[in-house]
Amino acid sequence: MESLRDFYRVTGDPYGYARELKSTGKHLIGYFCSYTPEEIIHAAGAHPLRLFGTTEEISRADAHLQSYSCSLVRSALEDALSGNLDFLDGTVFPHTCDSIQRLSDIWRLNTGFSFFADVVFPVKLNGEGSRRYMVAVLERFRADLGRGLGMDISDSALRASCKLFNDIRHALKTLYELRSRNPAAISGRDMDTVVRASMIMERQEFLERITALLEELKMAGEPASRDGRKRLILAGSICNHPDIFKVIEESGGVVVWDDLCTGTRSFEGIIDDGPDPVVSLADRYATRLVCPAKHISNTARGDALVKMVREHQAGGVVFLLIKFCDPHAFDYPYLKEFLERERVPAMLLEIEDRLPSEGQLRTRFETFVETI
Ligand code: SF4
Repeated sequence: MESLRDFYRVTGDPYGYARELKSTGKHLIGYFCSYTPEEIIHAAGAHPLRLFGTTEEISRADAHLQSYSCSLVRSALEDALSGNLDFLDGTVFPHTCDSIQRLSDIWRLNTGFSFFADVVFPVKLNGEGSRRYMVAVLERFRADLGRGLGMDISDSALRASCKLFNDIRHALKTLYELRSRNPAAISGRDMDTVVRASMIMERQEFLERITALLEELKMAGEPASRDGRKRLILAGSICNHPDIFKVIEESGGVVVWDDLCTGTRSFEGIIDDGPDPVVSLADRYATRLVCPAKHISNTARGDALVKMVREHQAGGVVFLLIKFCDPHAFDYPYLKEFLERERVPAMLLEIEDRLPSEGQLRTRFETFVETI
């Protein structure tokens, strides 16, 4: 599909794309997590660039981190220490897992980017006290970033950025829904590439490209909706392995929805058009799909996963667990219990920075798909 070309270009070489943007005079701010207030960065005229790490050999980062840090943390630090991120003007660290929090300190002390911020939201996100606290954290970040870039971030600029991000989220959700209705309309790999590009590409450019893609898909019409493949949900933290979608599809399954931080958790929830845009931003964090490093209620994640399975008529769930990712490892037994109660089969795939061999993966997926 013609309109996918640019998404593959930026996800294939995100740092090359970032350098192109930098050469236009943009400030680039790196971030790691879907709890980063990208809208504030954008309203400052800067570009929020999600860092996914690379799969290059790790040498420098190992001098600073324990061997039991996840591959995302290790490879991102490696990139920073080896100069691969020389285009960045700064980095933002929301407090999600302990590994990211510790990476924040190491980053601040050992890399030379001019701007640095911790955005420490409370762990419990709902309730009036948490809301007030989140608003204060966001206001502080807004002031720090404004000072760092030498500008004021006005309410009107922030409102315009919130609207742009809402439009992007709405478009991504439309694409996901289309694929859930009809998985043959766009492959899992293509879908994953689009959602990852939404965190790398200049956002207005992204919105134009995804609008063109949706138009192209509409023109093509929806092919026959049932293709016999077993419908699956993919759950986990980040997915740095687009090939996994292809192997699942070749094994008789198809991912129709996900609970990933490089998936629905990045675009679920709309920012309302209330009188104070910072309060509206905080409200989205308190109501969107919660990640396991945060808390809304004892059953919020389990209930949400079961609802996802039902809404998208999925036959099973594949948990993609990055080795040494504590929040998701602790979450897995509890989520599995919810699924067992509902008689939904699940499989756990633990990965490091590289996927297991394709043959091995295929055997595991084929076996799982047969149980559904
Ligand atoms: S949540 Fe998991 S994968 Fe993400 S940075 Fe923390 S430990 Fe790594």
